[in-house]
Amino acid sequence: MTRTALRICPLCEATCGLVLTIDQERVTHARGDRDDVFSAGFVCPKGASFGALDTDPDRLTRPLVRKDGRLAEASWAEAFAAVAAGIGAVTAEHGGEAVGVVLGNPNVHTMAGGLYPAQLVAALRTRSVFTASTLDQMPKHVSCGFLFGDPNAIPVPDLDRTDHLVLIGANPLVSNGSLATAADFPGKLKALRRRGGRLTVVDPNRTRTAEAADRHVAPRPGTDAALLFAMVHVLFAEGLADPGEALAPHLSGAAEVRVLAEDFTPEAVAAYCDVPAEDIRTLARELAAAERAAVYGRLGSTAVEFGTLASWLVDVLNALTGNLDRPGGAMFPLSATARAPRPPRPGKGFTTGRWRSRVSGHPEVKGELPAAALAEEIDTPGEGRLRALVVVAANPVLSAPDGLRTDRALAGLDFMVSVDPYLNETSRHAHVVLPPPPPARSAHYDFAFSTLAVRNTVRYSPPAVPLAAGTPDEPEILARLILAVLGQGGPDADPALVDDQAVARRFGSETADPHSPVHGRDAADLAARLGGRTGYERRLDMMLRLGPYGDGFGARPDGLTLAGLLDRPHGIDLGPLEPRLPAVLRTASGTVELAAPALAADVPRLRAAVAEGGDRQSLVLIGRRHLRSNNSWMHNVPVLTGGSNRCTLQMHPEDAARLGLADGAQARIKGDGGEITAPVEIAATLRRGVVSLPHGWGHDRSGTRLTAASREPGANVNQLLDGSRLDPLSGTAVLNGFPIQVEPAG
Ligand code: SF4
Repeated sequence: MTRTALRICPLCEATCGLVLTIDQERVTHARGDRDDVFSAGFVCPKGASFGALDTDPDRLTRPLVRKDGRLAEASWAEAFAAVAAGIGAVTAEHGGEAVGVVLGNPNVHTMAGGLYPAQLVAALRTRSVFTASTLDQMPKHVSCGFLFGDPNAIPVPDLDRTDHLVLIGANPLVSNGSLATAADFPGKLKALRRRGGRLTVVDPNRTRTAEAADRHVAPRPGTDAALLFAMVHVLFAEGLADPGEALAPHLSGAAEVRVLAEDFTPEAVAAYCDVPAEDIRTLARELAAAERAAVYGRLGSTAVEFGTLASWLVDVLNALTGNLDRPGGAMFPLSATARAPRPPRPGKGFTTGRWRSRVSGHPEVKGELPAAALAEEIDTPGEGRLRALVVVAANPVLSAPDGLRTDRALAGLDFMVSVDPYLNETSRHAHVVLPPPPPARSAHYDFAFSTLAVRNTVRYSPPAVPLAAGTPDEPEILARLILAVLGQGGPDADPALVDDQAVARRFGSETADPHSPVHGRDAADLAARLGGRTGYERRLDMMLRLGPYGDGFGARPDGLTLAGLLDRPHGIDLGPLEPRLPAVLRTASGTVELAAPALAADVPRLRAAVAEGGDRQSLVLIGRRHLRSNNSWMHNVPVLTGGSNRCTLQMHPEDAARLGLADGAQARIKGDGGEITAPVEIAATLRRGVVSLPHGWGHDRSGTRLTAASREPGANVNQLLDGSRLDPLSGTAVLNGFPIQVEPAG
């Protein structure tokens, strides 16, 4: 019998509501949910292909355990026992520090990924944690950590109310937005134009978004920090820096920023950025003149040599023009599972470098080490070497620099467990693979993206299709994995213990907090009042009820509960973003610290690069997004790839002619870490001297089970990197704007 079910799409950050058609427990169709309070019916080709992804025949349905060197299907009990034995053997001989954790980007798209990884890391007592953040947005966390005292307090552009939007290194018409969760980004940009607003795009590529802009500026890749500094200079020099009465009392350090910006005149940076000085002045003047404006930077401005400085200067510009924390500017969302607001109080501030990586001495950032350092932490001999890995939804062989080295390093591990639905380039090295069920059989709540959404809403999707008997869901897999690494991998291990522990800890701290709505109450009694059919639903109920819109367990009887949310399957609209300063601040001063010492200390490096003028001889490479792809995830879905290889080296026609390359010719591309070949695609949209290759490809390794992807494997762009190029403040790999050489491939 055919039925429909609602499901929030987990395939990108836009979090659209979908209506799934389900026939005999298979998803046969997906469309946008017109009644969804956040997305109002928007859907893109990826969401529309939800069923094809969900029913991909290459998905693993049973665990795999390595026996006699080969992975073979096993029972769940055998698999968890093998994890307990494998991790136990390594920790018994070498301690917990010999085990690393690798968390991939899909963790922020699943409910389990939002709830269990912190407990997993705590159970292992390891400081070797690597995530996709240091291949992506960590510079923004670091800049916000220093500015606001909280690395997760990230202001997002108030898209629905701004008059002037400046996008830097972002292509939301293709990516559908990132670090700014907004379903129907194309519609929001059209609405901006309809109400007379202006769109400015800063990007070395004339992307689809740049095509739609009122103004497009195309600097040399990786030079955004200098360009933004010059805009700051213009604001001060022309008397345009005016935070306004509401914001000014919350700011400190503006005078120091003015001094730092003194020698970043438009003329000083023009050659380095390859942008005329007058164009930089125009950008600054237009920003200052706009009634309500927001500056926003994304991957092209973060995964670069000066990513943290660029991320910092984005918000310095928002602050100096009075656009930080006001409607139409850059605002802080308030998610339903955030802690209920407390009275403003100074925090401890943000710090990095509490420990360092063993081999290269990279500072810890947000409890993580650079993903670019993963291979060397495994393959460099010596005390403290990583000998085992717990990998959750990560594919560092394709996503981290020097995939071949990572490949070899993983092959040399004593033990590795992967939580992954696919046997891919990374999980093929595992000793145990634990496959989570497809998305339609999983519950969904967006813990991460609700903190980045351009409008406050709350939505929850229970599983749309029941699990097959005896199959654990992803929360249970991660809970049992936690128990297994604690040595409790037996069949009697009760995953509810993991949820109970998290509930007890949260209620313990809340009941002791005089500003909590449950201060002084009995923690066990509160736990007994939780609703929900599963451990993860009980945790969600707890978080919602303790949150800013929650019922506070009776303190606000009309407030939010999970039961109330289940009654509203299209979600609840919590309204537009509201100003949140100073409550959001956790800096020691209680202000927005515009000139935090750690940020200021990196400015001389930028100054030196500008003085040097940059490498103007080499071709430099940048990445790009595609509407029908997301990282390495969807290359095995023929309805999305269309059987065509989109992994082409885009190149300006003049560069191609100079190098003797025609459209479709094979090019050999060489970088610090190795060489690859890819077909050339002539693209006049690119700056001269800049080539573009997308990431997440390179599905040509043996031992995987990716039937469609391996037919059109593409090339792994990260093979061009050796892991040595990092933004030093954040440990983020330089994935955009690095030098390469290109020649005909013989
Ligand atoms: S835009 Fe993103 S969330 Fe929306 S349907 Fe497409 S992939 Fe899913």
